[in-house]
Amino acid sequence: MAAPTKAPIEIVLVYQSLLGIYGDRGNATVLTKRLQWRGYETTLTVVEPGDPLPAGGQVYLLGGGEDAAQISAVNALRTDGGLQRAVDRGAAVFAVCAGYQIIGTSFTVGEHDEVVEGLGLLDVSTRRGPTRAVGEILTHWIGREGQDAWLTGFENHGGYTTLGRSATPLATVEIGVGNDGRGTEGAVNGLVIGTYPHGPVLARNPALADHILQLALGEGLAPLDRPEIDELRRERLAAVQRA
Ligand code: GLN
Repeated sequence: MAAPTKAPIEIVLVYQSLLGIYGDRGNATVLTKRLQWRGYETTLTVVEPGDPLPAGGQVYLLGGGEDAAQISAVNALRTDGGLQRAVDRGAAVFAVCAGYQIIGTSFTVGEHDEVVEGLGLLDVSTRRGPTRAVGEILTHWIGREGQDAWLTGFENHGGYTTLGRSATPLATVEIGVGNDGRGTEGAVNGLVIGTYPHGPVLARNPALADHILQLALGEGLAPLDRPEIDELRRERLAAVQRA
């Protein structure tokens, strides 16, 4: 096991009351457990709108939410400014669905497709798509460091996302809609990752969880042998292939 680092690793879960309805909180549990199993000290900080975002977190997590909550969240985050500062100092951001849209440059909401400005941490923009994307999703992740893995999750979004020049897709879609039904899923720029799948997605895809931790810590991690997680992964892969 790796020796514990000096200070606890801080995982920050952003706005559960607004971005917590799809169970993405589980991503925080997964990151915390995977660190603890390796001997790291961890702190999980849950922040709500009005509370300042902690200035020293290593990973900031955003989840999915409804349109109205999404607008409240983007406004509160813009006022706070802490997520931008975290990215500037090299923290990792992992944002799912509404969270993914929020960290992009803009997204639309409501019957009249009102355009809302995003935080601009990722060069993606989101507009309402032709049909709501709902269902199991299977993607193929090819990471820059040679990762080659299937990712599974459950997508549920009306927004379709287009990548700008400085964002790279996280994965290619085998089953499901992903960003916009044209073959890519998620987006990456440096230590900022956005993606659509819930699940929670990091419980289903431990390699992605470890990738985020390695980015955030700037160091390699010892392998983990957890047969129950391998079993969950096999079971979910089979389920999405059946679907
Ligand atoms: N409201 C957004 C959409 O429908 C995000 C939904 C979600 O977070 N699941 O596109």
